[in-house]
Amino acid sequence: MASDIQDLATRIQSGDRRALARAITLAESGRADHRADADALLETLAKSQRQALRIGLSGTPGVGKSTFIEAFGLMLTGQGLRVAVLAVDPSSTRSGGSILGDKTRMEQLSRDPNAFIRPSPSQTQLGGVARRTRDAIAICEAAGFDVVLIETVGVGQSETIVADMSDLFVLLIAPAGGDELQGVKRGIMEIADMVLVNKADGDLKSTATRTVADYAGALRLMRKRTGDAPDFPKAMPVSATEGVGLAEAWADMQALAAFRKETGFWDERRADQARGWFADEVRRALLARLSSDPKAEAAMATLAEKVASGDRAPGSAAADVLALLSGAGDRAKD
Ligand code: GDP
Repeated sequence: MASDIQDLATRIQSGDRRALARAITLAESGRADHRADADALLETLAKSQRQALRIGLSGTPGVGKSTFIEAFGLMLTGQGLRVAVLAVDPSSTRSGGSILGDKTRMEQLSRDPNAFIRPSPSQTQLGGVARRTRDAIAICEAAGFDVVLIETVGVGQSETIVADMSDLFVLLIAPAGGDELQGVKRGIMEIADMVLVNKADGDLKSTATRTVADYAGALRLMRKRTGDAPDFPKAMPVSATEGVGLAEAWADMQALAAFRKETGFWDERRADQARGWFADEVRRALLARLSSDPKAEAAMATLAEKVASGDRAPGSAAADVLALLSGAGDRAKD
């Protein structure tokens, strides 16, 4: 099995697309033996130290995400870059299917040999989707992609999750009249490095110009991250259908990435992200172990009642449960 994993890793690193897809499927699987293989694979791939530019992209349905990704992705592959598109879909559990990262929405890009599109894994929990997307990013980086685009819709916590896995976070919005910022939550504005006002074409062009000004003003009022690039966050108009502003947006993303690499911000952010993911994994594995250990589960139930009736204090009761786990247990499943 170990040599199979080594072989899979070698094939991924040499750009074999089937190996890439197989590895992501392995990482998405809920089976404990698949998870163990995926962990071994990711450990091997981590040694490659290859880094892509990870771009998080969020926007409400209909704003033009897939149109933008198709046009932007084709522009990048046209420059000889390799582009992967992944999705974090908070609705996939409800709908049972994915509305993001759908190949039929990015037809040309999905046929491009330098692009790889992977829809969001369907999972019962957003945390599970996040974990699998992180693995998919790592696999794509080892496979030598230059850019990994991580798409999400502006719902719930998914933007924060995506921003946490990205080097840059881009918010796509539609032109809107008035100075009300389209109900975009302050939290999202705070994590955005760029606000792209899409559909800046035809009748919507002048509205888009005003919207850009509104957002530029709002972004100026937000507190800057100390030490980050002085010109960011910024707002600019684009038209995904006409290809307007895409080259400018890409130039800005590269400039921001270069600034962050030069100043150490990039490495710091990646290190912070990695620490956070590690802590998540430890927490998740502990919880999984707890729920897969009948003795611990029984103790939890008994102690919960004792805590409820005031016979035991929560802290020391919890320590008793954890003590039951300190022996070697089965490998944690999901
Ligand atoms: P998504 O749901 O965010 O992925 O949005 P889509 O990419 O599916 O686009 C939603 C609609 O907006 C489609 O009818 C697109 O043709 C249209 N659209 C996307 N980008 C643009 C643009 O730049 N200009 C105009 N006028 N329409 C656009």
